[in-house]
Order: sequence, then C-alpha cells, then structure tokens
Amino acid sequence: MMTTQTLTSYQQILETLGIADKPGGFAIGSRYEEGNGPRITTVSPIDGVSIKEVGSARVEEVAEAIDAAVEAFYAWRTVPAPVRGELVRRYGDKLRQNKQALGALVTLEVGKIPAEAEGEVQEMIDICDFAVGLSRQLYGLAIQSERPEHRLTEQWHPLGPIGVISAFNFPVAVWAWNAALALVCGDPVVWKPSEKAPLCALACHHLLQEVIDDFEQAPDGLIVLVNGGREVGQAVAASKKLPLISATGSIPMGRAVGQTVAARLGRSLLELGGNNAMIVTPSADLDLALRAITFAAVGTTGQRCTTLRRLIVHDTVKADLLNRLKTAFSTIKIGDPREDGVLVGPLIDEGAATMMEDALNRAREQGGVVTGGERVTEGVPGGAYVRPALVEIAHDAEVVHTETFAPILYVLNYEDFDEALAVQNEVPQGLSSAIFTNNIIEAERFCGPSGSDCGIANVNIGTSGAEIGGAFGGEKETGGGRESGSDAWKNYMRRSTNTINYGTALPLAQGITFDV
Ligand code: NAD
Repeated sequence: MMTTQTLTSYQQILETLGIADKPGGFAIGSRYEEGNGPRITTVSPIDGVSIKEVGSARVEEVAEAIDAAVEAFYAWRTVPAPVRGELVRRYGDKLRQNKQALGALVTLEVGKIPAEAEGEVQEMIDICDFAVGLSRQLYGLAIQSERPEHRLTEQWHPLGPIGVISAFNFPVAVWAWNAALALVCGDPVVWKPSEKAPLCALACHHLLQEVIDDFEQAPDGLIVLVNGGREVGQAVAASKKLPLISATGSIPMGRAVGQTVAARLGRSLLELGGNNAMIVTPSADLDLALRAITFAAVGTTGQRCTTLRRLIVHDTVKADLLNRLKTAFSTIKIGDPREDGVLVGPLIDEGAATMMEDALNRAREQGGVVTGGERVTEGVPGGAYVRPALVEIAHDAEVVHTETFAPILYVLNYEDFDEALAVQNEVPQGLSSAIFTNNIIEAERFCGPSGSDCGIANVNIGTSGAEIGGAFGGEKETGGGRESGSDAWKNYMRRSTNTINYGTALPLAQGITFDV
C-alpha cells in the first residue's frame, strides 16, 4: 500500500518523538509518572490495533500536579514577557523539526489524513509565531484622569496556572492555542487531554519540556499533564488554584465544567459544539460552493467543531447543487488515511459510527431522505469507516438541531432571504456559518447585526478551517469563549487599574469634598 507518510510503524513514531519509553499517566515538567488511575489502552481508529497502554492520574495526583504549577507561576510571572516569548519561539522551531512525526502521531491516534494532521501541527507553529509577537504587545491603556496631577492606567498581569481540558478531534492544536498564549502571558498550563488521544498529549508535553529543560528562566512545573477521563477533568475544573479553565468539547461537557467552575466563582472559557450552516443563494458561484461544501462537510470525517452540518439552499439552485453533491459524496475516496488520495479516514471509534447510524435512523423517521451514510467495510483495514451522508429534510426536524459528530449534511431549502437567515439562526448552537453569494447586500446583511448570530460568519468560503489570527469561538450553547488570535490573550491575564497621584492635594473623584 502506498503511504504519504514515511513514518509508518507505531514504534518508530513514538521513538522519533521521544515518548516510546515514557509513562503517560501524568507529567509534572520533566517528571513522568505512570499514575495510579485506571489504565488507558490507546487504539488506532485506522485499524483498531492497540498502540500503547498508558496510565492515568488519580485525583490526589492531579492536586500534586496543580501545586507544582502554582509554584512555577511564582517564578514565571516575573520573567519579562519578551523572554517568555523566546521560550515559545524555540517551541515553534521544535515543532517545525518534528512536524512530520507529530503529524504522523495525530494520524495514528485520531485517524486524520496526513494533510490535515500536519495542518494541525502547522496551526501550532502559527500560534507560536503569533504569541512571540504578542509577547511584546501585551498593552494596557493610558486613560485621561478627571483629577489634576493624576495618572490613570491599565496594566495586564499574569493570571495564574490555566487549566486546559481538550477534545479528541484537535488533539494537539487546541492545547497549543491555549499554551502558547498562556505562556507568554506568564501562566503555567495544566492540561487534561482527551482520553482518546493521550499519546498526542504526551508528545506535545515532551517536545515542549525539552525546550524548557534548556531554558534557564523557565521553572520545572511550567507545564503539567494529567491524563484520564472526566473525573480527572472535574478535578481540574474544581481546583480553586486554577483561575481560568479553558474547556473544549461537547455541550454536555461544557455544561458540567461550566457549573463546577461557576460554583467556585472561577472563570471559564468554553469552546463547545457547533451546528454550522451555509446559505447558498441564487447568485452563488456553484463551482466554488461545491468545493467548499464538500471539504467543510466531509473533511476530518465530519469530526470538526466547525464541520458544515446544514446547507440552506435557495429553491432555484437546490436541484442542481444537490445532484452535484451526490456525485461528489459518492465518489470520494474513503479508507486508510495514510493511503494516497484518501480524503475521508475513519471515525474515532465504533461509538461514533453508532451515533451516526442512530441519527440517520431518526432523520428517516422525521421525514428525511438519506443518500449515502452506509458503513464501508471493503478495502479498509478495520476501524469505523463510513460514507458521508446527504439528508434532504425539513429545517425544523429535531435531528437537524442536534450536533451529531459525523459526516452528515442536512440539505434544507428556502424561498426568501429573511427565511434563510431565520433558519440559519434557529438552532441552539452558534459557532460557524457561511454564505455563498455574489450579491453584496446579502453578504453584508449576513455579516451584520441582524445576520448570522454565530461567532464566525464567512462569505464565499466554508465554515471550517479558521486562521489563527482571528478570535475563534461561538455564541449560545457553543459557550461564548474566544481563543487563538485577536485579543483572546486578555482571557489569560488579569487587569489592574492604577490611579497615581503625583500632586500634593487629594482631590476625590466626582467632585466629592471630604475634609477632615
Ligand atoms: P467530550 O465533551 O466528550 O470530551 C472533551 C473533553 O472533556 C475530554 O477531555 C473529556 O475527558 C472531558 N470531559 C467530558 N465530560 C466531562 C465532565 N463532565 N467533566 C470534566 N471533563 C469532562 O468531547 P469530544 O468527543 O472529545 O469532542 C467532540 C466535541 O467537541 C464536539 O461536540 C465538538 O463540536 C467539540 N469541539 C469544539 C471545539 C470548539 O472550539 N468549539 C473544538 C473541538 C471540538
């Protein structure tokens, strides 16, 4: 079989990344431990073969790891931000050197095709570059004071150790988005990765720890890793020593984590599920739309938070577009993601395939007409392979309003533009959205205040594949958090407002007199 990655053996990938002999239960800086929690067997979704067994952390081991991060915070917060940026710059270089190997591990552990797996590592490199520049730009404001001989300013200070809980489908990039910003902002990072991708987490930790080991100003314990399931996630969320919990995953997870953090009046940054739609209008360039729809709907086997799940097509173009989509979906190459030409790899596990089947059955019961969606068993090496599904259905069917984390595209239709906008916005989630149109009024209305209610609203590109320069996140049940670019760094710092009196009088604000 032809493969596009040269690292093919599991052992070779783990050895290249330096983690073949590392126990993976938890890691406090350079100290790697097996952990006393239940053991996790990592299984490759490509062929169902077990890669490696790792340990997991118990709740008291999580507490020990967090204490180490708190100690590291006391040292790291006083290191100048541009020096902290230098650490992140070196990590970016380390990732450049290990891009192929780390990409191969992402392919192996979560089944992404190499182009997307290495693209995820590229995203890590990009956020490192962004964070390095940011390390010299953590600006506060100078504000005009209403009092004579007074100066009013705002400064941004390190916040404390940041808890990061991440999902399986971006097993390296989501942590890097958080870690690169947190580190330049002066914060250690406590990472609870998905129990479906503990090896990717171990590799990311190890590569960064090697950089930290050679960096004099960086304390041991600056990064800690605690593998395990939701009880480990809850232990992280509940810790009062972590002022911010950045959690990426499903809406039920966000509801649970959000409540735990709120109960202790901590801050949370939630990046949860989406139900992303694209409106295709009569003036749209259908060739462009077809390519964008196909990548957004079937890329990463429908397992992106920004995957296109609802297509809202004008009545006049629906038949033509649907026919072209049926051809594209039925001919797309599905199989071992390492094989040349494959665009759709496996779902993460059998559970995901069952959820897809259930959703398609519900869609049929709710009046949907399904094309595709069947299991693929020929020419694949085991694992849960499926053909992406197209479902013609009513916009208000219950199944359409739920995120099923699999390649199912619901095809809906509309007559007038206001109706399309209403359908776009009627679901509880609010992550990504797009419109294909060559009508400037429709495009501007879509991006305007009464248009898409999502955190991401695109014109003539698909819903997935965001750049790191923009703030990333969504509204409503998607959780409201923003990470990555723009001013998302402010989440990882605390703001201090300083009033400085350089005169000899003591004037009070609002003209109040209070003579003693
Ligand atoms: P998941 O919610 O099952 O798990 C995510 C993480 O949360 C894992 O580390 C898990 O162990 C932990 N967790 C689960 N329940 C928990 C609880 N009650 N308390 C504490 N921790 C808990 O999600 P998944 O299946 O790994 O990922 C898919 C989901 O993630 C989809 O809904 C997808 O849309 C979403 N996602 C969102 C974004 C985004 O940026 N908005 C990005 C990637 C994935």
